Amino acid sequence: MATVGIRDVRKRFGNFEVLHGVSVDIADGDFVVLVGPSGCGKSTLLRMLAGLENISAGEISIGGRVVNTVPPKDRDIAMVFQNYALYPHMTVFDNMAFSMKLAGAPRNVMEQEVGRAAKILGLETLLERFPRQLSGGQRQRVAMGRAIVRNPQVFLFDEPLSNLDAKLRVQMRSEIKELHQRLKVTTVYVTHDQIEAMTMADQIVVMNHGIIEQAGPPLALYDKPANIFVAGFIGSPAMNLVDGVVKGGVFRTPDGTPWPLPPGTNAAPGPVTYGIRPEHLRLDPEGMPALVQLVEPTGSETQVLFRLGETQFSGAFRERVTARPGDMLRVGPDPALVHLFDKATGQRI
Ligand code: ATP
Repeated sequence: MATVGIRDVRKRFGNFEVLHGVSVDIADGDFVVLVGPSGCGKSTLLRMLAGLENISAGEISIGGRVVNTVPPKDRDIAMVFQNYALYPHMTVFDNMAFSMKLAGAPRNVMEQEVGRAAKILGLETLLERFPRQLSGGQRQRVAMGRAIVRNPQVFLFDEPLSNLDAKLRVQMRSEIKELHQRLKVTTVYVTHDQIEAMTMADQIVVMNHGIIEQAGPPLALYDKPANIFVAGFIGSPAMNLVDGVVKGGVFRTPDGTPWPLPPGTNAAPGPVTYGIRPEHLRLDPEGMPALVQLVEPTGSETQVLFRLGETQFSGAFRERVTARPGDMLRVGPDPALVHLFDKATGQRI
C-alpha cells in the first residue's frame, strides 16, 4: 500500500494543454474516484499515474518516491482497463498468472497466488476457460484477478464497468468496493458516472476542463458543493438551479416568484443562482402553486416535473403523487437545504 501525490501536474498534447496544474493527495489505503464529463482529462491523469503518458510539468509520487521518469513496470501499480485487455488465446489461469510468469515465478507459487485471487473473486471453477467462454462480468473479474495477483501498491481502474449492462454494473460496483475493504490497497478509479463515484469513493475528485472543481468525501460534496458545476454534477436527479436576485430578504425568480433564503444567509442583494435538490422540495399546502408536467413513480418515490411561473423544476417526493399533467400541486423548499451561488463567479455563497 502507498500514498499517491499529484503536485501541480500539467499535460500538453502539442500546444494543447488538457491538464492545467492539478494537485491531489491520496492517503494510504484510500479509494479515490476521479469523476467528470467526457474530455475533462481524468483518463489522461490516470494514464500519467500509470506511466503510460509523460508528465509535461509537475510531480507524481507513489509511496513517497517521485515516479515522473519511472517506467510503468517499475511503479508497482496494477491497472484494470475498460476493455479488460485479456489475452484471448490464454486460459483464465494463464491470464492471471501472466505477470508472475514473466517475472520467472515457479509454478507452485503461481498456483498459490492465482488460487488466492480466484478464491477472492469466485473464479475457482473457471480457471481453465478461455475469455470467449466467459460472461462480461466474469471477464471483468479476471481482469481484477490479474491485478490482485500482482500485489501492487496501488490499483488503477479506468472506467472498468462501462461495458457491462446496468444490473451487472451495480453488482460489480459492490464487488470492487468489498474487494477494496478486504485488501485496503490504495485505489484510483476513473468514471464519468457520478453515482459510481458517490457509492464507491472515500474521496471524490470532480474534474472539469482540466482542473479540479472540488475534492472531498462524497456526502461533503453533496451537502456543500463548492460551485455551480459540482452542484449540477453530483446528485441524481440533478439539483434545480435557477437564476434570479436576492431582494428584500427573499430570492425572486425573473417572473417575481419569491423563494425563502437559507436561515442565516449572508447573501447580499443582487444576482444569485438558487439551488434546491429535487428531494429537498416538499408537498406543502402553504407552498407555491406548481403546474404538473410529468409524473414518474419509481416505487420508492415519485419524481415530478413541474413549472413554477416560468421556471421548470423537478421534485422527488416520498409520497405517492396522484396528480396528472395539467394539475396544480403546492410545493415549497426546505429553506435549511437551499444552496446559493454567486451568479458571476459560480462560487458557493
Ligand atoms: P472520457 O470520459 O471521454 O474518456 P476523459 O475525461 O477521460 O474523457 P481524456 O481521455 O483524459 O478525457 O482526454 C482529455 C483531453 O485530451 C480530450 O480533449 C482529448 O481529446 C485529449 N487527448 C487525449 N489523448 C490525446 C492524445 N494522445 N493526443 C491529443 N489529444 C489527446
